[in-house]
Amino acid sequence: MASGKVIVEETSAEIEGQHSKIPIGISSCLLGEKVRYDGGHKYNPYIVKTLGQYFDFQAFCPELDIGLGVPRKPIRLSQQGSGAIRCIAVDNPKLDFTDALEKSANEKKQWHGNLCGYILKKGSPSCAMERVKIWGDATPIREGTGIYAGKMMENFPYLPIEEEGRLGDAVLRENFIRRVFIMHRWMQLKGQGMTFNDLLKFHARHKLIVMSHTQDRYRELEQLLAAAGKDNVLEVAEEYLLKLMQALKIPATRGKHVIVLQHIQGYLKKPLNAADKLELADTVEKYRLGQLPLSVPITLLKHFFRKHPDEYIANSWYMNLDSDEMSLPNPI
Ligand code: SF4
Repeated sequence: MASGKVIVEETSAEIEGQHSKIPIGISSCLLGEKVRYDGGHKYNPYIVKTLGQYFDFQAFCPELDIGLGVPRKPIRLSQQGSGAIRCIAVDNPKLDFTDALEKSANEKKQWHGNLCGYILKKGSPSCAMERVKIWGDATPIREGTGIYAGKMMENFPYLPIEEEGRLGDAVLRENFIRRVFIMHRWMQLKGQGMTFNDLLKFHARHKLIVMSHTQDRYRELEQLLAAAGKDNVLEVAEEYLLKLMQALKIPATRGKHVIVLQHIQGYLKKPLNAADKLELADTVEKYRLGQLPLSVPITLLKHFFRKHPDEYIANSWYMNLDSDEMSLPNPI
């Protein structure tokens, strides 16, 4: 699974153990495996060639797993008279694969629990995350979830999941990758045996990132940790992770980044002279107006913090977004 390949550039805030590819589940057909009902595949070069440099893809085809061969007759979601959504054969409604697909997902719980993310094939009645056609009496409606994917999401509601089609959208792609990297750091911490203190430190390092996604959820996380007892770390950690991942799913915006940048500026209030403060304020304002990318005010802040170090800021992953999250172009 792990290749030993370095996935991120070292930074001042780098942590140990970040030197292996990140385990990600994926619908097999996206890697080019000929497992589709028609004997074809849905090879996705961006996923394989670009994300594959950082992710250790672990492929799985639930329809093969439940014994459907290649080629096979197509299946689809269908709304029954009772209102229930079932996954049935297109040419024979009596052939129902719903339970088998759910069982397949349940049997993979241990594997899913060790993943840092999952990339699914859109539109599939087994694999897709959303907008799957549900057939009934009238025109099909795109409101379904693949049966295997739905059970996996129910079992692991915090797992970063995205569809291959949505990865073409820069904002969604960046959001997914960010959640994956954070999940990876979480799994590393968990693997070492997480103490309450570790949890507090993890939160401190990710605070600013959460703030750039949602201030409300950030406050909820703070309250959760403030009220938590040290003797129920695992329980608190589980609740924290779920809330964290829900928060990160909310897209970061330019306005929220400005609030975070201004918050960081506060740490430089005393050490900076008037000219430096003006330069910083001007850069943040240009970013707010959309005239500069986020990397510019962050680079300037890093420059000032090199001269006037602050431990909290140095350890914050927010200040290392460009390097730790694959240096992808930041759309915001
Ligand atoms: S079941 Fe999933 S992995 Fe298998 S062919 Fe369909 S979309 Fe691809």
